[in-house]
Amino acid sequence: MTDPVSDPVHDQHKVGHLLDAALLHEQVAAESAGATELVLEASEVHKRYGRTEVLRGVSFGVKRGDVKAILGPSGSGKSTLLRCLALLEPVDAGEVRLDGRRIGVKGASGGMVTPLPERLLAKQRSDIGMVFQRFNLFPHLTALGNVMLGLVEVRGRKKAEAHEIAEQMLIRVGLGERKQFYPSELSGGQQQRVAIARALVMNPKVMLFDEPTSALDPELVGEVLAVMEELAREGMTMVVVTHEMEFARRAANGVLMMDAGVVLEEGTPDEIFTRPQNERTKRFVEALA
Ligand code: ADP
Ligand code: MG
Repeated sequence: MTDPVSDPVHDQHKVGHLLDAALLHEQVAAESAGATELVLEASEVHKRYGRTEVLRGVSFGVKRGDVKAILGPSGSGKSTLLRCLALLEPVDAGEVRLDGRRIGVKGASGGMVTPLPERLLAKQRSDIGMVFQRFNLFPHLTALGNVMLGLVEVRGRKKAEAHEIAEQMLIRVGLGERKQFYPSELSGGQQQRVAIARALVMNPKVMLFDEPTSALDPELVGEVLAVMEELAREGMTMVVVTHEMEFARRAANGVLMMDAGVVLEEGTPDEIFTRPQNERTKRFVEALA
């Protein structure tokens, strides 16, 4: 590459600024039209596995800086919903929008749509951070290696640069001292914090967490929730499937109750936990307490 201006990192910054400008413009236009600024939006999302309809028309919106907690019994479709939002599964019907733009498919809204080719899917996916119940770290890479990987492979950052960013992020989640440790040498709580750092370095527009503490020994839950609460305070847009009611009360501004592939009820933490309207929500919340 002879032209210094077409350096990919440099270009990415330029494009970033242009995108910011375009988004800001859109945002101003949307706000003046009285619309709210949705970062992530699911509209009538349907998903089936064979004959089982797992998601039966799920709709909800997440505004910038929102922290939404999702509750619901086992098998109600929470993980499937997050996997659809993160573009790890195609939806059968309905739409997922990120910053107002439909993702996961190509084609006009309302018209014929086809799945995106894998390369473009991967690019869209990289704007959505996902943290799984079981960490899913690469066992042959150190904490640092795990956190750097996406920056190098997906974002095209130079190794030295990725190293620096990853190191800073590991310090932020309290693992500066453990950067050279392999997953097998880390506790579950530490592995989960590495997984959070790995998602965060990509600078995602939204972070999705699927029961991030439910595979942890009780004494390790707090350190992971503390990192998530800090993120929430810093204004990160988050969707968290969790049954940690105290966390939801402290950090979330919205709670959704799912059951059998639909959103049964949505409200503030106080509305859902203290005076739920739906009978099933009431029973579920009582059992949690
Ligand atoms: P939750 O996270 O709320 O426990 P899931 O989204 O994991 O619920 O699962 C919802 C339903 O979908 C369950 O009945 C489950 O067995 C089914 N399911 C999930 N993933 C698959 C899959 N890959 N293939 C077939 N069935 C699946
Ligand atoms: Mg699940």
